Amino acid sequence: MSNDLTLKERMTIERVHMPAQDAGARSRNFAEVNLGLTEAEAIREARRCLQCKSRKCVEGCPVNVSIPEFVTALADGNVAGAAVILQNDNALPAVCGRVCPQEVQCEAHCVRGVRGEPVAIGYLERFVADWAMAHSDRLVTEEPASQASGKRVAVVGCGPAGLTAAGELTRLGHEVIIFEALHDTGGVLRYGIPEFRLPKRIIDSEVARLVRSGVIIECNVIIGKTLTLSQLRAEFDAVFIANGAGLPVMLGIHGENLKGVYAANEYLTRVNLMGAGLDAASRTPILRGRQVAVIGGGNTAMDCVRTARRLGAERAMLVYRRSDAEMPARAEEIHHAREEGVEFIMLTSPLAIVGDVQGWARTLRCQRMELGEPDASGRRRPVPVQGDVFDLEVDVVVNALGTRANPLLTATAPELALNRWGNIEAAPTGATSQPGVYAGGDIVRGGATVILAMGDGKQGASAIHAYLQQSA
Ligand code: FAD
Ligand code: SF4
Repeated sequence: MSNDLTLKERMTIERVHMPAQDAGARSRNFAEVNLGLTEAEAIREARRCLQCKSRKCVEGCPVNVSIPEFVTALADGNVAGAAVILQNDNALPAVCGRVCPQEVQCEAHCVRGVRGEPVAIGYLERFVADWAMAHSDRLVTEEPASQASGKRVAVVGCGPAGLTAAGELTRLGHEVIIFEALHDTGGVLRYGIPEFRLPKRIIDSEVARLVRSGVIIECNVIIGKTLTLSQLRAEFDAVFIANGAGLPVMLGIHGENLKGVYAANEYLTRVNLMGAGLDAASRTPILRGRQVAVIGGGNTAMDCVRTARRLGAERAMLVYRRSDAEMPARAEEIHHAREEGVEFIMLTSPLAIVGDVQGWARTLRCQRMELGEPDASGRRRPVPVQGDVFDLEVDVVVNALGTRANPLLTATAPELALNRWGNIEAAPTGATSQPGVYAGGDIVRGGATVILAMGDGKQGASAIHAYLQQSA
């Protein structure tokens, strides 16, 4: 099929479906759920694009990926060309193609969606990025190296914000060292998002590409303990802080400290980073509950409950105080969780966790809720239905209410201005109250998304570059 299609011909092509592992089988394994498109499927999908002059899809992308250009190259069968365009704009395209909420970003703006379904931009991004990984020998991405600036930049945290900033700054000719507290790279991409959504080999490959470009990564260095921010300031010309927001928000209910109750990050880190329940050689334990209740309605809650199912839970329950329409998780994760047999217990708020005499969680006492008037977030506020209290039998409870800024770094850097939630105050450029110190990602925004963190990394890198040129 030629790409020289009429508008009518483009409009008659139906949106591609992403093939996935069978739901019954995958609810018992950790292999990736989505299987990816074939080249023929991807090219056909790309030919649905109208190549609009208005480029509405780009407006919906926080890192302004040249979507019409990469999709057009793909529609022409030029996958290598599409890959070069994509990699130029996005430091982690294979990650974004898997975890971005495209339905509220690029695809929500896609003109093709006005009549019918939008172009499957996320699937195409994933296809092109995976193709590029498999065919790196066929890519000519080498940009002329920027002249070394002689400037050194420290980046705190090796998640999407830090990796993006480091990649951009290296490309601009600066020497960049990322300091990461954990023993491995990727931040939430590795320790939070499970293998069945984002395989570790994808993170390894994207990080390796950045390292090849010159980024230096030092793991096991905690800024605020091993080194302080003022030590970094003394040794480097600028600092970008991207240490995320990994401190759990507590439930604040009776029984929270019982055995069998986890915070989501701890639960996921045990499995994803330490191999608990997956790797026979892992020395990190995890409780394989038969009846697991996960509290929350975001991506983290969805990852926990789907992990519990894969670890063998007979009842993997998601307990959420609002209704389906208000759930912040990606639409695809909700759909996949339902297919995998997760029970959605909606309009329900936890009141207490009741334990047995040995101190193990046994019952989650719940309050039935209904929706009232919209609150500050614009979502309808859940209010208790008087007298409607019920019990769920449990042996594991996971609190996935959310996270906030960890004070480890900021406690030793009182010179940094913080907001009332402990997040670092930063201008849209990433500039903080301290000259030469920039910040971005979840440490500034609170828990947000991968692509917003990456957008901050890109923006922070360009502001740091301007600052370094001024101070040259
Ligand atoms: P992080 O990814 O948190 O990285 C921060 C890094 O800094 C970590 O590696 C941490 O170890 C390190 N660090 C912390 N303190 C220090 C210190 N003092 N010194 C040195 N290093 C330090 N977003 C999506 O868009 N799609 C999804 O599907 C999605 N799913 C998610 C699932 C889960 C389970 C979670 C928890 C989040 C999810 N998110 C998702 C949100 C997204 O992952 C985050 O918004 C994003 O990772 C934030 O990036 P970051 O670089 O700011 O921080
Ligand atoms: Fe193509 Fe949709 Fe972007 Fe238009 S808005 S260029 S149809 S992807």
